[in-house]
Amino acid sequence: MSTRDDVLASLREAGGLPISGEKLARSLGVSRAAVSKHVAALRAAGFDIHAAPGLGYALLGESDALDPRVVRSHVRSPWWIDIRGGGEVVSTMDEAARLARGGAPAGTVVLASRQTGGRGRLGRQWESPEGGVYLSAILRPQLSPAEITPLPLVISLGVARGLAEFGAAPTLKWPNDVMLDDGKVAGILLEMSAEADRVSWVVVGVGLNVFASAPLAPGAAYIADVVPDVTRPHVAAEVLDAIADVVDRFERSGFAALRDEYESLLAALGREVTLTDVDGHLQAVGTARGVDEAGRLVVATATGDAAFASGDTSLRPPSVPI
Ligand code: ADP
Repeated sequence: MSTRDDVLASLREAGGLPISGEKLARSLGVSRAAVSKHVAALRAAGFDIHAAPGLGYALLGESDALDPRVVRSHVRSPWWIDIRGGGEVVSTMDEAARLARGGAPAGTVVLASRQTGGRGRLGRQWESPEGGVYLSAILRPQLSPAEITPLPLVISLGVARGLAEFGAAPTLKWPNDVMLDDGKVAGILLEMSAEADRVSWVVVGVGLNVFASAPLAPGAAYIADVVPDVTRPHVAAEVLDAIADVVDRFERSGFAALRDEYESLLAALGREVTLTDVDGHLQAVGTARGVDEAGRLVVATATGDAAFASGDTSLRPPSVPI
């Protein structure tokens, strides 16, 4: 950690109460002039730091700048070794995939505060205006392409855990949508490169709606609506930390170790669902029983249990005759 990070950590520890420049300087082993220089740099990075004469510095507000250093200051996991970007890009997926192809290590993260060509699954668009967090992270799991199938579900669980850290109560919509109060708050997209029996890299993309700065797709939900005083870099960091945790568990113990937790967040569990394929054709209607160890959705239908590897679920009755 740099001295600037140490100054920030000390101010955070003080919980908004002032600490004198002298005390900061002494505890960090630097001069008072250095402390004042780092405070100025933190202010320039968007932190609201009040200087009270005779009392010292108090951190009154976190920075909302989606700046790699600010994100880094919130990250706890040692997994994320290179966090970069933060401005506008066409797609963080393209940037991260280019880095992965060039040999970038696992733990590389590309951030963006806006995407002009954000993608969803199946070539769908992910609307990415200012106000959200868009990130793509490189993983290099020691797994085969077959073993990796439940990874989208694992990532959605990680995103949900990250949001729960703020006191939000996210739910999951199989396979990998993260919902807040019935609205979609995050989209997840995975791209990978593999040989026959080994995954070379996976790029995990997560788009999160934080502030409602522009009208989004109908049914979008925003983190700031349920979490007061949230900041984008903090959201990015909590989500990254939680993803590191669930992916680590998944690599060691498989999806079986996370299945109960995934199911506990599944809004459809035990309810009547309609499953359509990617073209919108009806596949099944029945009660969602849960997911199996491969991440397939198990539906109790009139003709017995059936497991589905892909598709879209909805809690609405079928709009097409059966
Ligand atoms: P799907 O929801 O079909 O699995 P994705 O997760 O890849 O697909 O997300 C793409 C879909 O999500 C789009 O077709 C659109 O309906 C919706 N969408 C696009 N941008 C946003 C956003 N920022 N917030 C919420 N929903 C969005």
